[in-house]
Amino acid sequence: MEKDKSSKQQFSTRIIAAPYSKQDTHGAINMPVYRSAAFEFGSAEAIANAFQNKEAAHTYTRISNPSVENLERKILAASAADNVMVLSSGMAAISNTFLAIAYTGCNIVTSPHLFGNTFSLFQFTFASFGIEVRFVNTDDLEEIANAIDENTIAFFCELITNPHMEVANLTEISKITRARNIPLIVDTTIIPWCGFNARDAGVDIEVVSTTKYISGGATSIGGAILDYGTFDWQHNKKLADAPKTDSMSEFMFKIKREIARNIGANMDPDTASLQALGMETLQLRYERMSQSAYDLALFLSEQSNVVKVSYPKLDNYKYKRLSDRLFAGNPGAMLTFNLKSKEDCFRFQDHLQIIRRATNLFDIKSLIIHPGSTIYGTFSPEMKAIMGIEDNLLRLSVGLEDISDLKTDIVRALEQL
Ligand SMILES: *Cc1c(COP(=O)(O)O)cnc(C)c1O
Repeated sequence: MEKDKSSKQQFSTRIIAAPYSKQDTHGAINMPVYRSAAFEFGSAEAIANAFQNKEAAHTYTRISNPSVENLERKILAASAADNVMVLSSGMAAISNTFLAIAYTGCNIVTSPHLFGNTFSLFQFTFASFGIEVRFVNTDDLEEIANAIDENTIAFFCELITNPHMEVANLTEISKITRARNIPLIVDTTIIPWCGFNARDAGVDIEVVSTTKYISGGATSIGGAILDYGTFDWQHNKKLADAPKTDSMSEFMFKIKREIARNIGANMDPDTASLQALGMETLQLRYERMSQSAYDLALFLSEQSNVVKVSYPKLDNYKYKRLSDRLFAGNPGAMLTFNLKSKEDCFRFQDHLQIIRRATNLFDIKSLIIHPGSTIYGTFSPEMKAIMGIEDNLLRLSVGLEDISDLKTDIVRALEQL
């Protein structure tokens, strides 16, 4: 998907007004769902041209699809990226990104504080292909610089780690990655494009689980890879001589023309249609949910049974200044808090009536989870220690219910401890 850089419209307008690639025959206001595996052509030459990329046309939905392309168009309108590809999940976005640039003997420098499956992908899945992972403390710039060598293919981190709530100092980290000629790849699922400008922060490649903020009502699983066109792929041993086009870097060319279609990680047109609709209300939901999360963070801080609250906007929070700078004071709908024990965490959850016990983030519904016994429940205690998972910690994703009802629900459950 190529970008229209001329738009001067504001965030929500750009998403809602993003035009179709072709006029719809019936003038449908919502992009129709092109629920079709294949597309037919008027002549043998036309289909040959499409397959040889001489003519831009959809041939087969594993490769591209009009409904999927419509979501990509909206993401391009929303973000500052040059190019985007949506895939079947956030994990598909992450795995396809690294499959495009990794080779046997390479290494990835990253934090051990990662989304559980990303940690497992790096530590276990990739290890068997001779791809090494080097864990560093991302607050320590010297440690990051020292871990990079001539076979480092990227520095990777999450914008705000989950559930540790550490904010990555991307402006400083990007100075290192630029100087050392490796791409800065960031998982920005935690803050959508209306709250964070990846290009300004020095991010080269952004990966997102669109399952979260983008999908809207948590209807479906999806992911996206965004290329800011800022990295010179001559510096990657695998992509140095790879083909590119005017609109696709060597990286995007590799993903779109080889990796994603071979892995078969395409987004389904039904999912794309749901997520394109959800995305139109992204800014409204984000701002309201962030406001409620801040209110609840303050509210929880006042409760006697609550040992600690982590939310980047809180005055005493370690990453407050960094968060104010990167996210313009609006650091999203996720917060964590510590109770006295794991037993308290379980009892608290069991007495909630509005907030739901479920994994996932940034649904319209408020969701709570005890990460130590669920997302990280199958990791050994030693592994959990490396990953920094505390047993008395709860993660809350704040939804769109009325804030007074959420407070009532929390007080009611706290009274049971
Ligand atoms: C959910 C999530 C993922 C994985 O996304 P899926 O869509 O579930 O595959 C990756 N990173 C972060 C930060 C997430 O929250």
